Order: sequence, then structure tokens, then C-alpha cells
Amino acid sequence: MPAVEPKSSGRATPALAEAEAVLARVWGYSAFRSHQAEIVTSVIAGRDVLALMPTGGGKSLCYQIPALVRAGCAIVVSPLIALMQDQVGALREVGVRAAFLNSTLDWRQAADVERDLVEDRLDLLYVAPERLLTDRMLATLDSAHLALFAIDEAHCVSQWGHDFRPEYRQLAQLGERFPSVPRIALTATADAATREEIVAELRLRDPARFVASFDRPNIRYMISDGGSARERLWRFLEGEHPSDAGIVYCLSRKKVEEVAAWLTSKGRTALAYHAGLPADTRRAVQERFLREDGIVIVATIAFGMGIDKPDVRFVAHLSLPKSVEAYYQETGRAGRDGEPADAWMAYGLEDVITLNQFIAQSEASEERKRVERQKLDALIGICEMTECRRRALLAYFSERLSEPCGNCDNCLEPPETTDGTEAARKALSAVYRTGQRYGAGYVIDVLRGKDDERIARNSHDRLSVYGIGKDLSDGEWRDVFRQLVARGYLVVDITQWNTLQLTESAVPLLRGEEAFRVRRRVKLPKAEKGRRSGRGAGKGARPGILIAETDQPFWAALRALRAELAAEGNVPPYVVCHDRTLADVVHLKPQTLEHLKLVNGLGEAKIAKYGRQLLAVVARFTG
Ligand code: ADP
Ligand code: ZN
Repeated sequence: MPAVEPKSSGRATPALAEAEAVLARVWGYSAFRSHQAEIVTSVIAGRDVLALMPTGGGKSLCYQIPALVRAGCAIVVSPLIALMQDQVGALREVGVRAAFLNSTLDWRQAADVERDLVEDRLDLLYVAPERLLTDRMLATLDSAHLALFAIDEAHCVSQWGHDFRPEYRQLAQLGERFPSVPRIALTATADAATREEIVAELRLRDPARFVASFDRPNIRYMISDGGSARERLWRFLEGEHPSDAGIVYCLSRKKVEEVAAWLTSKGRTALAYHAGLPADTRRAVQERFLREDGIVIVATIAFGMGIDKPDVRFVAHLSLPKSVEAYYQETGRAGRDGEPADAWMAYGLEDVITLNQFIAQSEASEERKRVERQKLDALIGICEMTECRRRALLAYFSERLSEPCGNCDNCLEPPETTDGTEAARKALSAVYRTGQRYGAGYVIDVLRGKDDERIARNSHDRLSVYGIGKDLSDGEWRDVFRQLVARGYLVVDITQWNTLQLTESAVPLLRGEEAFRVRRRVKLPKAEKGRRSGRGAGKGARPGILIAETDQPFWAALRALRAELAAEGNVPPYVVCHDRTLADVVHLKPQTLEHLKLVNGLGEAKIAKYGRQLLAVVARFTG
């Protein structure tokens, strides 16, 4: 259970009743989610609001519903053009008068939108921050009737964050210029300090603050180390997501290209996406991801923000993200529709070294570098831990989970730890005896007694540690070194060719005054086990959408109809409706238009638009 779940007051205010009516009539949803009701009623009442919700938590409705309940047009500040277009498309689909103003419109189209705004023909208008702040736009707003300002991705105001946008800071002037218009700032990433920065920088006036639970119970977290990351990724994809859409994150453009080509050679539709590609290519990749089924995007972190495809079934990291926030935000792109999804990560010692290198080589101030190093360490801690990962992730966002989650790798298959004290001592003394002047690869060669010219030249084959580690494989030694680095017994000096050096904490371990437990390498499942018999089988089963065998043709026909409707309307299939909605149709088998209102996700506009065709399919299968 989320720790900060609000208590329902049980007292329906007129504003709440009206908001609920809009939720049902326009969106076809039966109830608000965590905090949505309070946020919506605060904004309707004209109060400034700061709302923190995880990705997929349902932020959009928090301003879209007040936009419909309050008189006038809501102005939504959004940093990403793709996101604006998606949102406006989805809003029009449910019959809401929405538009956007951005660089994709020519002046004539923009003038039409401005006229609609001033003449009160819009419920919501999406605008990029730099455009909103032009004199011309502000003057237009002066003569319009405004319902509210919604500032999406409000963490962009934070100069410490990874998405800092200077123009966001100037949004503070909206409060002075339009004092009677409430402002709602929304974000999915903000620790306590960033929250305060948002309130201060935007000069929100005594805002009501809402922090929804950051838990995303439908996402399963899995982090593994050691061995070939690609091989493990492939097994994961084959076993769990043979035909699902998902994102694979890599650190560098080069790796993105390689991994995309490799997945393609294996028969998946995998597309590369990174900042080095031409804008047209990037747009086309994004478009295919949204519209086609089963596409895998291989991307640097440049991909994802502002993509709200709800049925991304997995997010895989082939390298370590920079911080827990970044990891949580990136993995949060999976399973926005609330159905089971996976957050999978493979990492190794090289990642730790590379990221430390990035930090060291950046132009940032020492203070900032220190912050970045701490953030990276916090993430490494989560990778190495043997207890519930979700608990640790949520604790990072100051949220307590009273029980282990039961839906992360450590909960599902508690990792074995073994006594690694002897191995750790051998490793530390080998570092020491070789003079703390070598990287992990060399030290491991010494431990394993490799016949190597460099070792011989350095006379390291005469050291007492030479060959004392033949009992462990190269990979097992890498695990030991990674864990020694992760837990602070060794540091990697990246200014000196990644040489390993002992820290103070190594002393008690070296002297045998302390024990060291190592996480056992996760064993790869045997190849002949083959793919799991679908979701819902075996340990930790997650019932996703279940369609009975006998209903499969019905389900397929509904999906085919959706694909047709999406193509006709030139929108992604999920904008027509989610899988959950189609599943409801299968289960309820509605016979009349009135009956369709009971289906989750069908509001008035969609029933009017698609109702008859849906009923025709139902009739074919229930005859
Ligand atoms: P966020 O912007 O917080 O990432 P969205 O606003 O895109 O999340 O919402 C995620 C998904 O959840 C959307 O598909 C949305 O339609 C759905 N959703 C939001 N609120 C509700 C609700 N009260 N009932 C059912 N579905 C909801
Ligand atoms: Zn857990």
C-alpha cells in the first residue's frame, strides 16, 4: 500500500461531483486515482497546486478536468512538441476542444488557433514555454478568458536536474501578470529539494502540495550483473517479450547503433534513436514506435521524455543510468496502462568506471561533481543490494513500503550470498602488492596466475599473490572487484588509467577483522527450458489481460477493428482505446450503445464514434 494514500473524505462537494461526472462522460472512467480528486478540486477552486506523481500516474487528467469544469481555456506549458501533439490528438478523440501552438504550425494556422483562443472556442491550449513568453503571446492571453495554467514537467525549472530549461524560470511572471488564474505545476521527478525549487522559482502562491505514491506496482524490477549483458538481454526478450514493444537504453550512440543492428539480425524490429540522428529520422522512428506493434527502440536517454505510449511492456538498461531519479523515470515509461511490465537492467564494473569517468571529465564545478558522484553511488547501492529493490527505490523518494514488494527479482528469487571474505582479501592484497597502479583486468590476471609478458616484465609473477586465485573464473573475479568498488573498499582512479586503490575501509577487511559477503552470480536459465508459457505461469505470476481460449477470435476481431479505426483516424491504436477497454468488451459483451457506457475507457464521444462498429463485432461473436 502506498504510504501517502489520502483518506477519502466521504463528502462529495459539488466541484467533486462535477469533476466525476466529466471523468465518466468524457473519458469513460469510473473513479479517480490516488490524489487526482483532491488535485482536481483544488484547481477548480482556484488554488495554486504542486503535484508530484509517478510517470503513468495520471497527471494529465489533473489539469484536463479542471480545464473543462472551469470557464475559459487552460494553457498547458509543455516542453516537448511530440507530447503536445499526442495529447491534443487524444483529447480531440474524446471530444475536447484542444489545440497546440508550436513551430510545426505555419503563421496562418497559428493565427487560427489564436483566434479560437480569444473567441473562447478552446478548452485546452498547449504551448511551448519559449513561445508562451513572447510579448505577442502574452498580449493574446491578456484578451483571452483563462481557466488555468498547467506547467508540465515542472522539474525543468531546477538547475540541478537533468532536464534544466532556462526559459522555465521565466514562467514565474505568469503569476504577476495573471494573478487570478490558478497555476498547477506537475512533475514525475522531484526530490524534496527540487520540490521547493519548483515552488520558489515559479513563485507559486501558497500552493496545495500533493505527493502521490511513487510506487508502480505493475512494474517488475530486475537487475543483474556479470556475464554477457547482450546474451542475458536476448534471453529476457525471448522469454518474456517475444513480440512486445519496449525500449532498450544504452549509454553511447555507437552502442545504440550496434545493439539495434544486432537485435535486427536476430529478427526483431529494432530501431536506433539518439541525438546524433537527423531530426526527420528521429521523428519517423518515434512515429513507428507509437503506431506499429512490437517495435523495440534502442536509444540513448534522449528518447522517451514526452512519449506517452501506454503499452510499453519493458524498459531494458544495457548500461547504468546516472542516478536513481533517472533510472526511475526511464523505467517508469513501462506499463503506463497499469498492466504488467518489466524494468530490466544489466550492469558491470565497466559501467561504474565509465560513468565515473564522465563525471570526472565534465566541465562541471567540483560541487556539482560531488553531487553527481553521490547520485551514482546511490544507484549502485540499489544494484548491489540483496533485499527488496522496490523498497529501496521508494525509500529514495522518502516513501516507506511496509512489506517487501513480492514483484522484484530479489523478492521473487532471493539472491544467494556466500562468504567472500577470502576472495576479497586476496583481491585487496593483490591490488596492494602490485602497487595500486593497475586496473581490475591486470590484477585479475595476476591472481589467476596468467602467463603474461607484462606481468613477467613487472616481476609480478614472483609475488605471493600470483596465481592464488585460480579457483575463481575471470567473471567471478570481476564480480568480486565490482562489489568491492560498489561498497567502497576500492576506488577506481580514473585520472590514472582506471587504477584500483585501497580505501581506509579496506584495512579491517585485509586484517581479517571483518567479513565480506558476495552476491552470487545469477545463473542464466538453461537454454532448453525455452520460453515461459506466457505470462501468468509459474512463480510470481502476474495476471495481465486474460482472454479465454474460446474468446480469442473475438479478441482478435476487436483488435483488428481498432487497427482499422486507428489507421482511418490517423492516430495510434491506443488512442482509439486501450487493451483493457477491448478486454472489457470481451467480458461484458455489450448489446446496446447504453450498455457500452459500462465499458472502462469509453466516454460519450468514443461511443458515438465507434459504438456501432464495436457492437457489430460483438453481434458476430455472440449471435
Ligand atoms: P502521466 O502523465 O502521469 O504519466 P497520464 O496522464 O498519461 O500519466 O495517464 C496514464 C494513463 O492512465 C493514461 O492512459 C490515462 O488515460 C490513464 N488514467 C489516468 N487517470 C485514470 C483514471 N482515474 N482511471 C482510469 N485510467 C486513468
Ligand atoms: Zn521487492
